[in-house]
Amino acid sequence: MINSFDTDIALINPFNKKIVLRDFYSSTISKGIYNWPNIDLLSLAANLQKKFNVKIIDANTEKLSSHKVIKLLNSKKLKGLIFSVGKSVLEDDYKFINEIKNGLNQKVKTFVVGGVVYYDAKKELENNSFLDGCIINFTTDDILSYFLNKRTGLKNLVYRENNKIIECENELPRNGFTLPIAPHDQLNLKKYRLSHGKSNYLTSVITSYGCPHKCSFCVSGKINYRYRDPDNIIQELDYLKKIGVKEIMFKDNIFGFHKRNYKELLTKMINKNYNFSWVSDSRVDVLDEELLNLMHKSGCHALHFGIETKSEKTLENYQKNLKDTNCVKKTLNLCKKYRILTVGYFILGLPGETKEDVIETIKYSVELNLDFASFNLPIPIIGTELRLKSIQNNWVLNNSSNYDGSNTPIINTGKLLPDELKKLRSDAYKKFYLRLKYIFKIIFKIKNFFQLKMIILEFTNLITKRH
Ligand code: SF4
Repeated sequence: MINSFDTDIALINPFNKKIVLRDFYSSTISKGIYNWPNIDLLSLAANLQKKFNVKIIDANTEKLSSHKVIKLLNSKKLKGLIFSVGKSVLEDDYKFINEIKNGLNQKVKTFVVGGVVYYDAKKELENNSFLDGCIINFTTDDILSYFLNKRTGLKNLVYRENNKIIECENELPRNGFTLPIAPHDQLNLKKYRLSHGKSNYLTSVITSYGCPHKCSFCVSGKINYRYRDPDNIIQELDYLKKIGVKEIMFKDNIFGFHKRNYKELLTKMINKNYNFSWVSDSRVDVLDEELLNLMHKSGCHALHFGIETKSEKTLENYQKNLKDTNCVKKTLNLCKKYRILTVGYFILGLPGETKEDVIETIKYSVELNLDFASFNLPIPIIGTELRLKSIQNNWVLNNSSNYDGSNTPIINTGKLLPDELKKLRSDAYKKFYLRLKYIFKIIFKIKNFFQLKMIILEFTNLITKRH
């Protein structure tokens, strides 16, 4: 329940019937019941609250219809609205924004942030007259300058002014960055949870931005890697401790990449004795034993790795250049040693793969002895080489206006047919999760009632939903 609030700028995660995770230039529909606070909106709110009263409204998590959000907003004098949007539900998101704008009793500048606007901002504004602008980089304070009516020196924004679309320079500096503390306490943190989480008093924090790698199916490699100052992160963690946060999702693409910084951050976290439990995404060829030991001591209990496929040829074709393919098993074994759960992400049927490649990948996911696995289908994400190739070859299916790799095939190369791929994905889930050995392993890892509840909910979801 969201009560009345004072605000100049509202940052809104749109309502959807499904749980939608839209942040850090990607969006996906939750395959289970997991959900975390939107890092784009948190980071933008952090900068905006230097000069404005801000309010984050997670209409998706709170299940607030446009009608309810309009009611909340109409009693305020608003300066701006910022919506997080995602390609996997873009039509729904734009419908929601339109309803809000039509229902408001005042004219309000409306911006959007998200992967879809990262490459096509001008087109989004041309096609959607209800939008006033797009935010390209959620870690800078350009949007603060915009709402302070500055119009010179603006960067990382595309906006409408006097019927013209102004495209500011995209500045993606490579140096480190800091962020003011985000207003996490505006969110009902009890409502967020991870399938493998230890507690539901969960929030999101970033320690870096972008990715130094260039996998050609992923948009993050297009964003210059920047790391956040460790002392600045510690200030935010001190505040999170004070407000009672128990679990943290470090919303990084590649936790641990800048070794010196991460060793400093983790050592400080250990010395502070926060007692947080935390999870993040990383790469198998980035983490070494010293780092994993520090991660474990500072509360890390699960790591997510993009393993993608068993096929070395596919890894090479898509520039997922691992330093050494043996590092997959080596890093997963080290995680076991430090009692860190491992989650493997796989993409089944990237163009060029055969049915046999996909079957090998499914077998591999079982052999790796991962704790959890997520099987996805290729998505031609805007801004990626995979998208360019898919368009050039006419592989993108006509009915795919909303992109989500967690259910329906979006690419048809004519070799692995969509129905076949869908069935392979369904088989992958059954082969991975419905094994007695696996079920016993997970039961023995349950440490508290919350984990038991989450496992039961996720398994029920897995069995009752047709993947
Ligand atoms: S390492 Fe991960 S985040 Fe980075 S480009 Fe590759 S898939 Fe994307």
